[in-house]
Amino acid sequence: MRNLAHLLETRQVSSREIVEHYLGEIKQQEPDLNAFITVDDVGALAQADAADMRRSQGNPLSPWDGIPIAVKDNISTKGLKTTCASRFLSNYKPLFDASVVRSLRDAGMPILGKTNLDEFAMGSSTEYSAYGVARNPHDRTRVSGGSSGGSAAAVAAGEAPWSLGTDTGGSIRQPASFCGVVGLKPTYGWVSRYGVVALAPSLDQVGPMARTVEDAAILFSLLAGPDPKDATSADARNFEVPFWDDQFVKDLKIGVPEEFFGEGLHPDVEKAVRRSLRTLEGQGATLVPISLATNDYAIDTYLTLVTAEASSSLARYDGVRYGERVHAADSNTMFSKSRAAGFGPEVKRRIMLGTYVLSASHYEAYYEQAQRVRTLIKLDVLDAFKQVDVIITPTTPTTAFTIGAKRNPLEMYLSDLFTAMANLSGIPALSVPCGTDPKGLPIGLQIMGSHFREELLFKVGYVVERSAAR
Ligand code: GLN
Repeated sequence: MRNLAHLLETRQVSSREIVEHYLGEIKQQEPDLNAFITVDDVGALAQADAADMRRSQGNPLSPWDGIPIAVKDNISTKGLKTTCASRFLSNYKPLFDASVVRSLRDAGMPILGKTNLDEFAMGSSTEYSAYGVARNPHDRTRVSGGSSGGSAAAVAAGEAPWSLGTDTGGSIRQPASFCGVVGLKPTYGWVSRYGVVALAPSLDQVGPMARTVEDAAILFSLLAGPDPKDATSADARNFEVPFWDDQFVKDLKIGVPEEFFGEGLHPDVEKAVRRSLRTLEGQGATLVPISLATNDYAIDTYLTLVTAEASSSLARYDGVRYGERVHAADSNTMFSKSRAAGFGPEVKRRIMLGTYVLSASHYEAYYEQAQRVRTLIKLDVLDAFKQVDVIITPTTPTTAFTIGAKRNPLEMYLSDLFTAMANLSGIPALSVPCGTDPKGLPIGLQIMGSHFREELLFKVGYVVERSAAR
């Protein structure tokens, strides 16, 4: 992005030209990619013209003023439709911007449009979107991943230079891995959730998706910081883009958890990740075999908590406060008819599961038990960081799967096998492309660090990216 910023700064290119370029790509590719739910060409061009005006007057808002971005459609944008890929919100236009969108606007970045996702961010393929699947730019018979599949596909296909995603159990990292882009799930609390439509508030985070590690770090620097509007916002510092250094992994201790290299891991993925690990070792890092035994419980714990929290987060969609109304003679029938018509099957499944685990007779056995296990998982992870600086694993067990391949919801849930742990423990995790399988499909490597160690993750990611490019 520094190149583009330089071209803008030296007036070799205008923001209007850049935005027109991306809108052209969108127009050409969207009919079969379907990465966007809403394209705001009129708004993006107006914002580009405003950026060009600021430049011509010598007062850009930031180095990135005039560089456009795509935003996942569960993040509120004032006056611009925010559907969460649900029929229920098909006409919903927020009255305010999410704080992260405010940050983009404060930096002068035009918003190209809103990207496709699984309905309310529940899923791993965008097949649960009410607006059709977002296809994988590397092979259009395959999924882009999910739930931030549209944000990943748009960047990979060159429809947007970078984008925002959200990650509750893997929704930034898994699609980043499937589409061959970089994606960060930040430390819980470092990025504001104000105006982000909640799936599971104790797990959700917004994060950057980009073509390079540096771009992801730049975008993260615009997002990270305290927000008085978000009660869970950490009282944290801002984030500075690090100084890049190839030599930096020397003496770094990298934990390699055996549990992430066992059953279910595709051999092509294992090969690529191990090759990157060897390269890091060749550059002076020490590989330390570690155990994260509690990962065996991560999916069960995650699903119990995510469904419980979702059932409560989604109570507000009743056809009155939010959502399309189906008229009926009395209010209870109106609520249930509206919800029956508005929500898709996966959302209904999760609301039912969540209501069950929170019910008076099962609350202790499921919800409370899951909270206890969550604590054990967190302690396990924190323990590992006493021995090592970062932990490296594959991001996903396989490369992108074929559209329609996972008919059973349980199979779909297993997509989060390696990613849910970071959400449960609140730590940051970065997915970086580290190679391709024999079919040419991208493979992602996940770097996890202790809370607020994003800088370290980006630095290691930078070395992985350089070695994968060779
Ligand atoms: N695939 C996960 C799920 O279905 C992740 C969702 C997310 O991170 N938003 O819950």
